Amino acid sequence: MRHFVSAGWPYLYDIPGLHNCVPMLFADVCARFNRLQGHEVFYLCGADEHGARTEYVARGYGTTPKALLDSKYDATLPLLAKLELSFDAFGRTGDESHRTFVQEFVQDLLKHEIIIEGTQKIAWCTHCEQHLPDRFLEGTCPYCSGRTYGNQCNNKKTCARLVESDKVIDARCAVCSGSVEWREEPHLFFRMELFRDKLAGLATAPAKDISEVTERVQRTLTENPTVCISRDTQWGIPIANLPGKSVYSWVDSLLAKISFTPEIYWKDTDTRKHFFLGMDGSPFYGALFPALLLASHRGYSVNHWEICPNEVFIYEGGICSKSTGTGIWLEEALATLPSDFWRFYIFHVHANVEMGAERDVDFRWERFCETVNHWILKGFQAAAEAGPGEQGQEQQAKIRQLMSAGKIGEAFHALLTALVEQPSREKTANLAPLLSCFLPTCGRQLAQGKRPFETASLYAPEVQMDYQDKVDARRAKRCLGEEVTDARADALCVCPINLKEQ
Ligand SMILES: [Zn+2]
Ligand SMILES: [Zn+2]
Repeated sequence: MRHFVSAGWPYLYDIPGLHNCVPMLFADVCARFNRLQGHEVFYLCGADEHGARTEYVARGYGTTPKALLDSKYDATLPLLAKLELSFDAFGRTGDESHRTFVQEFVQDLLKHEIIIEGTQKIAWCTHCEQHLPDRFLEGTCPYCSGRTYGNQCNNKKTCARLVESDKVIDARCAVCSGSVEWREEPHLFFRMELFRDKLAGLATAPAKDISEVTERVQRTLTENPTVCISRDTQWGIPIANLPGKSVYSWVDSLLAKISFTPEIYWKDTDTRKHFFLGMDGSPFYGALFPALLLASHRGYSVNHWEICPNEVFIYEGGICSKSTGTGIWLEEALATLPSDFWRFYIFHVHANVEMGAERDVDFRWERFCETVNHWILKGFQAAAEAGPGEQGQEQQAKIRQLMSAGKIGEAFHALLTALVEQPSREKTANLAPLLSCFLPTCGRQLAQGKRPFETASLYAPEVQMDYQDKVDARRAKRCLGEEVTDARADALCVCPINLKEQ
C-alpha cells in the first residue's frame, strides 16, 4: 500500500518556531509508522515561497524575495534535519519545474472553462499606493463578525471561512490602517460548484475531528461557488493572459503537493493521503485541493483523503506567535537540549488533550522538565536496564491499532506506559521500533539495550536560563542596524519584528 504524507506548508520565515513544526512532527510519525508497517511512503515537506507577504517581508530586510528565501532555506533545513524530520523531499514553490506545472494546469482548466475570466473589485490603499491582496486587507468577517483578512477569516477556532476580499466589512489596509479604494480588475475564477456533489463527504478525519472537518468543508463548498485564483502581486507564478497578476499562492502551494511527488502516488487509486494541518486549513485541503484535482481530468485520485488537524500550541499561557515574540525557537531549543526532548513534549501534551485530560496544548518550562525527567531520563533508563519478563505483544498490537486509527497521541501514551511500567528486556526490544516513530534517538538506543541519555535530570530554572541566554544573544546580534518603524507593519510582516521581539 502507498501513503502520501504531508503537513501544511508554512513560510520558510515562519518555521523557526517549534509550534510551527507541530504538523510536520505529526506527519513524521505517520510516515515513520507506515514505513515500519512495510508500506511505501512519500513524505513531502516544503515551503510556500510566493505571495505579497514574501515581497513585503523581503523589503523589511532590505533584500529581494529570492535572496531572502535562499538564506532562510539555508538556515532552516539543518534545523529540520536536527529535529529528525524524515521527509523524502522538500519542495520550494519557487522552483522552475513547479512553475511550469502550475501554468499548464491553469491553462488546461481555462481551456475547459472550469476556470473562467471575470472581474473582481480589488482594494487599493492610496497611502501605501498598492493593491491589498490577502493578509494586506483587514476588516470584519461577514459570517462571524470576527477579524478577517482579505482571503480568510482569522477566527481560527470556529470560523476560518474563505472570504473574497470584496465581501470584507469595514475593509482597511493592514499596513497603515488607511481606508481603501475599490478598483475593478480582471481576474480568474475557479468554478468549485461543479464538484460540490463529488466532494461532499469525501474527506475523512480521525474520530475526534470528523464532524468539525465535515462541517467546515461542507460550508466552504456551499458558500463558495467560485474561488478567485489570481492575485495582483508580482512575486508569484505569472499568468500568461493577465499581465501583472500571479496565481493565488494557496493554489500554487496546493498544486506543489502534486508537482513534487512521484506521479504514481497520485494516480494509484489505493494511495492513502494524510494531511496534517491546523483546523483552519480544512477549507483548502478538504475542498479546494480535491476540487482542483477532479477538475484536472489528469487521472489524479482523490480516494482515501484524510485531514488530520493539530491543536494550536500555547506558551506559558499565551498563544505562540512571532508577532508577540512568544514561543520556543527551534534554533536555540535544539542548541540547548536533544531533539527527542522537544519531540517528546509535543506528543506528550497532545496526547493529554486527545484523551480529554487537558484542554490546551501548552508549554511550561516546569512541566517540560518534570515530564522529561520522569519518562525519558528515569523511565527509559529503567526500560534499558530491565531484566527478562513479559513480551508485551498485546500492548504492541493495541498501539499499532491506535496508530492506524489516527489516534497518535493516545498511541504515544500507551507506548510510554507499556515501556516504563513493569519494564522488561523483551518488551523494550519489541517496542523500540514503535518508539522510533516518535523519538528516533531513544528508539535506536533502546533497540540496542542502551540508555538513551546520560543526563540524570533537568532542572527547570537552569534549562530556561540556558535557552533564554541563547535567544538574547541572537537578538542582540540581529538588532544591530535593524529598524522597524511601523508597529502595524510589524504585526503583518512577522519577520523583521521577530528580530526585535522584545
Ligand atoms: Zn469569520
Ligand atoms: Zn496602506
